[in-house]
Amino acid sequence: MKKMEDYEFWFITGSQSLYGEETLRSVKKDAKEIVDKLNASKSLPYPVKFKLVATTADNITETMKEVNYNDKVAGVITWMHTFSPAKNWIRGTKLLQKPLLHLATQFLNNIPYDTIDFDYMNLNQSAHGDREYAFINARLRKNNKIISGYWGDTEVQKQIAKWMDVAVAYNESFGIKVVTFADKMRNVAVTDGDKVEAQIKFGWTVDYWGVGDLVEEVNAVSDSDIDDKYEELSKEYDFVEGQNSSEKFEHNTKYQIREYFAIKKFMDDRGYTAFTTNFEDLVGLEQLPGLAAQMLMAEGYGFAGEGDWKTAALGRLLKIMAHNKQTVFMEDYTLDLRKGHEAILGSHMLEVDPTIASDKPRVEVHPLDIGDKDDPARLVFTGMEGDAVDVTMADYGDEFKLMSYDVTGNKPEADTPHLPVAKQLWTPKEGWKQGAEGWLTIGGGHHTVLSFVIDSEQLQDLSNMFGLTYVDIK
Ligand code: MN
Repeated sequence: MKKMEDYEFWFITGSQSLYGEETLRSVKKDAKEIVDKLNASKSLPYPVKFKLVATTADNITETMKEVNYNDKVAGVITWMHTFSPAKNWIRGTKLLQKPLLHLATQFLNNIPYDTIDFDYMNLNQSAHGDREYAFINARLRKNNKIISGYWGDTEVQKQIAKWMDVAVAYNESFGIKVVTFADKMRNVAVTDGDKVEAQIKFGWTVDYWGVGDLVEEVNAVSDSDIDDKYEELSKEYDFVEGQNSSEKFEHNTKYQIREYFAIKKFMDDRGYTAFTTNFEDLVGLEQLPGLAAQMLMAEGYGFAGEGDWKTAALGRLLKIMAHNKQTVFMEDYTLDLRKGHEAILGSHMLEVDPTIASDKPRVEVHPLDIGDKDDPARLVFTGMEGDAVDVTMADYGDEFKLMSYDVTGNKPEADTPHLPVAKQLWTPKEGWKQGAEGWLTIGGGHHTVLSFVIDSEQLQDLSNMFGLTYVDIK
């Protein structure tokens, strides 16, 4: 897969020359100490680099221009140590094209009653400096992130860390390329949308390729690569032959491994990091990719079924945000409506990402009632328990909307011996009824990304960066 940049964030401290050189030296020393301690805390996923004590419109503007053209810089963190007249920030802030975090903090977390004097008051003006600076960002409709609190507190550092993950995903979004093998499923509405607008807004390139182009890659995979991977998988997962002959189990599983290598090479050679398949168009393939798609999702590639390129791209984007932990393609399948048991059973025909497995996945081979192809091998497992968020995106013609609700993930109450796919159960936190009515009122689709790592604050931050409408269903 395409390698990500080694991202960093730049730290700019607001001040002015009014207070004299000695105060500015203290401003710089304190700002550097904050940066050093944030980096040393190990609580941030990316390094922070102290860049500047900003005192003039010119040095702010020059630094923001540097941020824009330096691909390593994912965003800017600003802190007002003193009062920093905000007219100085207008030009640079307007030019800034990357995520902006206003860290509204103070060097000390207390009022030093015994020693406080006018020098201290001149140096520590965050309380009103923040308001001057926040006004101009609001006036510019910057939609930037604001985090208030003492910089040394764990909660504040966690909030910065989460915002950094969003900012990196935002930067990476403009490099996301989705390949759709075949077009999308015939007649389906909610998975369709405006690809040109998606590229303008989110930077997503969405390319159609004929299944025949993939078949050429499938036929070119070497048998020894397949044999080695088969051996490797037999150690990682339980192989369950079930009703199949040993020959059929091995052949069908190895065919999925063949598809895995072919799709991976196809994507890597062309810079794609997400893909879709469609069971209606499998000409020249023996099986719908099941285990193959699951293996690729586990490695961090975005995926969605039935040509749903929006969910495939969203999946890749949210996997970047979540460092590819427990953030998966999902589909609402069937409901438990009994009082006290209300829940949604989520799954997909085959393609459920094993990063949410709570037991050891089993490789099984079973018929698939649609697609009219050979019985596909797939990973069968039980999903996990915990707090999660369920997210989708739809195109309403005049705009895209991102929506989500908070959910509680659970394991199914019982086995499903006649439904041999991976399964995840969840219930909207505000209740199934309220959640369902909220979701349906907005018109959210059945394909989603379920994440046990990211949260609604991050989805709101991401939407603010894109200028995208976000609905947190409550
Ligand atoms: Mn589907």
